Amino acid sequence: MFADLHLHTHFSDGTFSPEEVVARGRQAGLVALALTDHDTVEGCARMTAACAAAQIEFIPGAELTAEYEGIELHILGYFIDTKNPKLLRELARFQIVRQNRIREMVARLNERNVPLQADAVFALANCRAPGRPHVARALVQAGHCATHDEAFERFLKKDRPAWVPKAKMSALEAIELIHQAGGLAVMAHPALNRADHLISNLASAGLDGLECFHTKHSASAIKRYRAFAEQFHLLVTGGSDCHGLSKGKPLIGTVKLAYEHVEKLHAAKKQRAVGVAALPN
Ligand code: AMP
Ligand code: ZN
Ligand code: FE
Ligand code: FE
Repeated sequence: MFADLHLHTHFSDGTFSPEEVVARGRQAGLVALALTDHDTVEGCARMTAACAAAQIEFIPGAELTAEYEGIELHILGYFIDTKNPKLLRELARFQIVRQNRIREMVARLNERNVPLQADAVFALANCRAPGRPHVARALVQAGHCATHDEAFERFLKKDRPAWVPKAKMSALEAIELIHQAGGLAVMAHPALNRADHLISNLASAGLDGLECFHTKHSASAIKRYRAFAEQFHLLVTGGSDCHGLSKGKPLIGTVKLAYEHVEKLHAAKKQRAVGVAALPN
């Protein structure tokens, strides 16, 4: 029995609807799925219904853009209450940051004589948490770039002409935000962030888990992060980080997390709930 705990839909920068994600997950034989759209939980209601219909377990989640000591980190929240007021307030704040950043990226493109309009990007994104992949798709659609990758290479990668830094919450705030919404906080794809030296501090600050299995993790990276997880008593998670068709082949099901890790997440979630109930008022 296997799970995929890192998935995106068109509510952020994936191309699949929640229903398509679930249908593909079912085809791949997965028994549990988590939705982890960037800075939004809007897709979770439809994922809940689609998973129930397909008899697949669903874990509501989100992937929060955060930073710690100047390094960008993605913090996954699992089992979060998707109606938690503070969580929704903070997500709304960072969605505005994302929307303003799109306008800024388009302005920079315009300065370079690339005549793209912000409204074209917003129309294509059709979501509250737009990001660089939407700008890339708009550039391809308008014929300014041949491919998504070319758009990143020429304009959107860090320090390229249309790259705009993004204001982020601190990783400590992200962990706290997830906890107060009843969730577990997991550091996403650590091999992509060069932040191994931060894991110890984040674990002390309450980080619950480490995403050891990820599409871009080599066998040696998996081994390395499983050792870190053991050393710092962190849960082990994994997922494909499928963005639908935006990066070519859909990745859902290509990273298979053994279900025993999902059981450990459940146990930790239960323990956290007991701990919170036992706190003095
Ligand atoms: P953003 O949240 O707007 O900074 O965009 C991040 C998204 O862009 C992630 O889903 C990445 O997978 C994607 N991305 C980041 N860098 C690249 C790159 N060099 N080529 C293609 N996609 C990228
Ligand atoms: Zn993404
Ligand atoms: Fe990420
Ligand atoms: Fe992701």
